[in-house]
Amino acid sequence: MNKKGGSYQKTKNIAKIEKKIKKLHRKLQNIRLNHIHQTTSKMVKAKPSRVVMEDLKVSNMMKNKHLAKAIANQGFYTFINQMNYKCEKYGIEFIQTPTFYPSSKTCSNCGTIKKDLKLSDRVYKCECGFTCDRDKNASYNLANYGLEKAS
Ligand SMILES: [Zn+2]
Repeated sequence: MNKKGGSYQKTKNIAKIEKKIKKLHRKLQNIRLNHIHQTTSKMVKAKPSRVVMEDLKVSNMMKNKHLAKAIANQGFYTFINQMNYKCEKYGIEFIQTPTFYPSSKTCSNCGTIKKDLKLSDRVYKCECGFTCDRDKNASYNLANYGLEKAS
């Protein structure tokens, strides 16, 4: 059949399908980039006084085989860079927290750090009685980042 010296030769059909797949990948990439552009524009147009973003520890997450692809695909770096660029353009303060800032583990109500918070804990429950959606709690911490000392 399509064998030459033990190595396998592409048929015209395979080459055609490969071309189609490449085209689809480019299309997906464009959709993702468009989404990032639109989302970051929308956020900047809301005229926030400042934007605080996390360093997403991408290199750490890449070690997790299941997360690696999803994270690479979502283009977090592109998102952060776009946000940084647009904030600068519109005179909005852009802040990035240090890599190991515990935004999820910190109670946004009392400041206690919950060391044993697991990724599966979707609700943050603190000993002070504060209960909150995990991501919301983290976003409160980011919103208040650096403000405590100023007041
Ligand atoms: Zn608390």
